[in-house]
Amino acid sequence: MSLTIHTMTLGPLSNNVYFITDTQTRETIIVDPTYQANLAFEKAQKNNWNISQIWITHAHFDHVAGVDELVRLSTSQLEIGLYPEDLSLWKNGGGAHDMGFFFEVKSEPTFFFQNGEEISFNNSEIEIRHTPGHTKGHVIFYLPDLETAICGDLIFQGSVGRTDLPGGNHSTLIQSIRTEILTLPPETRLLSGHGPETTVAEEIAHNPFLK
Ligand SMILES: [Zn+2]
Repeated sequence: MSLTIHTMTLGPLSNNVYFITDTQTRETIIVDPTYQANLAFEKAQKNNWNISQIWITHAHFDHVAGVDELVRLSTSQLEIGLYPEDLSLWKNGGGAHDMGFFFEVKSEPTFFFQNGEEISFNNSEIEIRHTPGHTKGHVIFYLPDLETAICGDLIFQGSVGRTDLPGGNHSTLIQSIRTEILTLPPETRLLSGHGPETTVAEEIAHNPFLK
């Protein structure tokens, strides 16, 4: 097994930032870089991880706030991946304007994910699953070799993503969880955008929103 995932919790909303690293080449995908991206960059440098890509689960401001800083700090060109249905959210303040403050990302995605696509990352496959409900273009990243899914704000330990913001829809969100999360093997680790990790089995047993 050559991939590892490391977590760093950063920013005023305690976002979990994930590093998917190939242990041999040190190439690294960083998922959802939030505020304090300089600290994420420093962690990568200390560990000799070479960040080559930024992958975004969804374009809310707290999941993209570190993109520009990473682009600025990196010496190489970073690929930036987003699901197309969240591009308008990306370009319109990531939901911040609805909360009453200004926010913008100057960088733009360099490629778009497709639903069901399997992206090869150094001999492992990472599956893209479109999971609307929290936002229209929300995706999760499923790594079968690691029995792990990076879930963004779709599902949390004992809870689910909020759906009261523009683009949110609760029944769509629950449907996404049922079709794209609960169908994964029960032992699958679920790494959420906020809070502790959980598993599919634990959420089937205890998540009150899925009863
Ligand atoms: Zn969100």
